Amino acid sequence: MLGPIKQYVLSGVNRRYKDETNRRIMVVNLFAAVGMSITFLLGSRAFIDGEYFLSTILFSASVIFALSQRLQVRVATAKARTWSITLLIFCLMALTLLLVITGGKDNTGPLWIYLVPPVTMFFAGFIRGLLALVAYTIACTIVLFGFNEADFVANYSYAFKTRLLYSFATVTFLSAFYEYSRQKSYDTALYLSEQFERQAKHDHLTQLLNRRGAQQCLEREYARMQRNKRHFSIAIADIDRFKSINDSLGHEQGDEVLRQISNIFKTRSRGQDVLARWGGEEFMFIFNDTDEAGAVKALEQIRATLNNAPLNINGNEIYITSSFGVCEVTPDIDTSSAIRLADKALYHAKEHGRNLVCAASTLPCR
Ligand code: GH3
Ligand code: MG
Ligand code: MG
Repeated sequence: MLGPIKQYVLSGVNRRYKDETNRRIMVVNLFAAVGMSITFLLGSRAFIDGEYFLSTILFSASVIFALSQRLQVRVATAKARTWSITLLIFCLMALTLLLVITGGKDNTGPLWIYLVPPVTMFFAGFIRGLLALVAYTIACTIVLFGFNEADFVANYSYAFKTRLLYSFATVTFLSAFYEYSRQKSYDTALYLSEQFERQAKHDHLTQLLNRRGAQQCLEREYARMQRNKRHFSIAIADIDRFKSINDSLGHEQGDEVLRQISNIFKTRSRGQDVLARWGGEEFMFIFNDTDEAGAVKALEQIRATLNNAPLNINGNEIYITSSFGVCEVTPDIDTSSAIRLADKALYHAKEHGRNLVCAASTLPCR
């Protein structure tokens, strides 16, 4: 029994959509079902009572509720969802307005207008919801006070009409306030979660991706390589004799050296390449769509730039070098093997005098 209900409520929901969108889809499904059932029941009752005009209105509304739900599920685009919501709100407003005009059963029709503010605010959001509700209030006012003598408008007392509008305005105000606060809290929560997500993936000192961010990039690149069969290369850079920098200049100036080196690496990398802080004074390069030879060429330029560019530390010019180990990722060499081989190549570069780029494929034994 619960299976089909759950299936109905979740129809149109997609894991790729934002939580907010999915929640809205579910509420539209529920609201359409409730609206469809109530209008159908009330329509049947009116039909039995011989109130054919009212029953036609209610049956039509029932069909529109069903159509709006189908629209959102069948045409699963953002535009269709907006149309579906617009149709729901329009149907609800038209229906309740007609109930105000006709009075519904024994003049109880106006009771339903209190549904309009919360539903409109939830579906349309604060600004659009407020505009729609102002228009609706004006329409209600015109209906209630503009046709005092007309036969087609139900007969309400003056006190009833004014109290109806006052209480409606109060519910509108409260719904608008609630929606505004809800949107603000949602925006704040979204902002905070994006900040946390960013901080979790970035390095505080250099603002580059950290090891975790780099690992996510590697997974993405590896999946892409398996799809399009285009290899990529990774390189690990380790600053030469960095301990002595710390010893001579102090840890804080050492940090500044790392910042300036990361800037040089960044500005010398191509836009599509990824640069990350892999560890203390180790950096990782991910060269998309690039074989080992291409990566070596790019790294040679980066190495030469660092070698020739003086860093300005506390007004003093100092020269720093770095060693690099590089390896191509292929279907036979997965990312973790490539990292291990790039590390070996880096070690080889250190062994052979530093300030060198060494490719894993040239290692005497892998
Ligand atoms: P090698 O040429 O063999 O790489 O010599 P090295 O002195 O650079 O040796 P190693 O790479 O093992 O040294 C890493 C040093 O980097 C040790 C550590 O004190 C320093 N270090 C690591 N992280 C940081 C950091 O965030 N800030 C600073 N200032 N120093 C760091
Ligand atoms: Mg090191
Ligand atoms: Mg080092």
